Amino acid sequence: MIDKLIKKRNNYIYKKTIKYLNKNKKNTKEKEKLLKKIININNTKKRYDYIYEALCRYLDNEFKEKNPCDFRCNICKKSRYLKENNIKRNSYLNGCCYSYTEKSNCKYFKSNGTCSTKCLGCKLFICDYLKKEGYNYKLNNIYLSKYFLNYRQKKYIEYAVKKPKEEIIKGILKRRPIITKLLDIFSSN
Ligand code: SF4
Ligand code: SF4
Repeated sequence: MIDKLIKKRNNYIYKKTIKYLNKNKKNTKEKEKLLKKIININNTKKRYDYIYEALCRYLDNEFKEKNPCDFRCNICKKSRYLKENNIKRNSYLNGCCYSYTEKSNCKYFKSNGTCSTKCLGCKLFICDYLKKEGYNYKLNNIYLSKYFLNYRQKKYIEYAVKKPKEEIIKGILKRRPIITKLLDIFSSN
């Protein structure tokens, strides 16, 4: 009975996602393979972990390809604009990883300029300056999360900046749909 319900839920999510990809002419064999891999993970925590990693890879590729922040000598596009227009800041370095209010780099920021945690909220973050250029990343517009995560989970992640992955995964699990919670209780996974 529980297995049937899980299968039904998985098929529903899979079909909706494929329909979404087809509608946007973005369907590929590779994406179908990845979606099948996700729906075959029945353990909820492992499934969310897999989706989280897939979303990180997706966003890393997007930022690598499109390079919206366009860092030069550790100064991002927005900070260059502020500097060129004499808009005073404590520091113009390290983009969003520097906090104007705390007057320091984020605690996860490493001296080599990289991040020591995989914060999905930060990877999704687009400042107003870049939004004006047309950049925007919302989980509701990404096939990996559109139907695999609910509204509360998506909103939570989008606001969960400067947080470690483990904490975000806990937040995602806490906000999972009631039906998933029930299936978790009654299934053996
Ligand atoms: S999102 Fe904006 S503020 Fe943040 S690093 Fe990119 S250009 Fe800079
Ligand atoms: S958690 Fe976010 S703000 Fe902090 S170092 Fe990583 S990317 Fe930068």
